[in-house]
Amino acid sequence: MSDLIWSKLQALLDDGLNAVNSASDESVLTALQKKYLGKKGEIQAYMQHMKELSPAERPKLGALVNEARDRLEAKFAEAEVKLQNAKLMADLKLRREDLTLPGRMPVRGAEHILQKTQREIEDIFLSMGFEIAKGPQSEWDYFNFEALNFPADHPARDMQDTLMLENGSLLRTHTSPVQVRTMLNYEPPIRIIAPGTVYRRDDDVTHSPMFHQIEGLHIEKGLNLTHLRGILQLFAQSLFGKDTKIRLRPSFFPFTEPSVEVDIACIFCGQKGCRLCKGCGWIEILGAGMIDPNVLKAGHIDPEIWSGWAFGVGIERVAMLLHGITDIRLFFESDMRFLSQFTK
Ligand SMILES: [Zn+2]
Repeated sequence: MSDLIWSKLQALLDDGLNAVNSASDESVLTALQKKYLGKKGEIQAYMQHMKELSPAERPKLGALVNEARDRLEAKFAEAEVKLQNAKLMADLKLRREDLTLPGRMPVRGAEHILQKTQREIEDIFLSMGFEIAKGPQSEWDYFNFEALNFPADHPARDMQDTLMLENGSLLRTHTSPVQVRTMLNYEPPIRIIAPGTVYRRDDDVTHSPMFHQIEGLHIEKGLNLTHLRGILQLFAQSLFGKDTKIRLRPSFFPFTEPSVEVDIACIFCGQKGCRLCKGCGWIEILGAGMIDPNVLKAGHIDPEIWSGWAFGVGIERVAMLLHGITDIRLFFESDMRFLSQFTK
């Protein structure tokens, strides 16, 4: 009888070991573990043969059952590790990970192209003895229009539509208010440039509702249009190359008299005529003029003693010309493919 019991145990053990060997995933393994080693599993069930044995044989059976249980447990542990490794290898194969690749470099920040252009313009004027002045972006009507010789009903205001704020101020439409603020705070002679953000209700490929200007202001005794021309000539040559020619065309601005539009000889076609200069060989870059006596008076400066000139240039405009950019919106879309071209 006992031989039969031993052989049954051996068969049970062999079945168990074979089943574990061929287990294909962890859920099968868990089920087998329950089947063989669980509280109601086959090993435990086997113990019922105990009562068929004589008291002398019982400890022997107990020892054999324990040995069978140990062997099965060891087999389960081994199978578990094997399945986990196989799963990891399959995962790695799926991801095609290449552990020899170099690590990812952190992205370095850089100056925005508009900031860079602003700094280039600032450097040109700083080298000529100008200082940098700043003013608020939310401005009073008085400084933005009135003191600059735009009376309340002046049609030139229509071209500079902007947002009014709740406190009655407005988003400044140009950097020119800094002229008046500077005149009120400093005694002439004055040489400043005033870079900053300005706002207008404009929105197309060459106009943005928010853009940047640099204002220039020079007040001294005996200044005239030729001084303005000389400075702007030097400015254009520093920016676009030493052979750059400029020309002045009569224009109108309420705060300058006389007023001029300043063109540079087309840097794209050498004045042969192209799409960018609209065939005429000249490209407009800024507006300027001699300061209107009314503006000097608003700044508490006597126009009988002092005279001065001023100009305003769009930073986007300059950057577009320097780099051949045709859509102003690219500056503000934060597309790294565009911006990273200018970081070298
Ligand atoms: Zn051209």
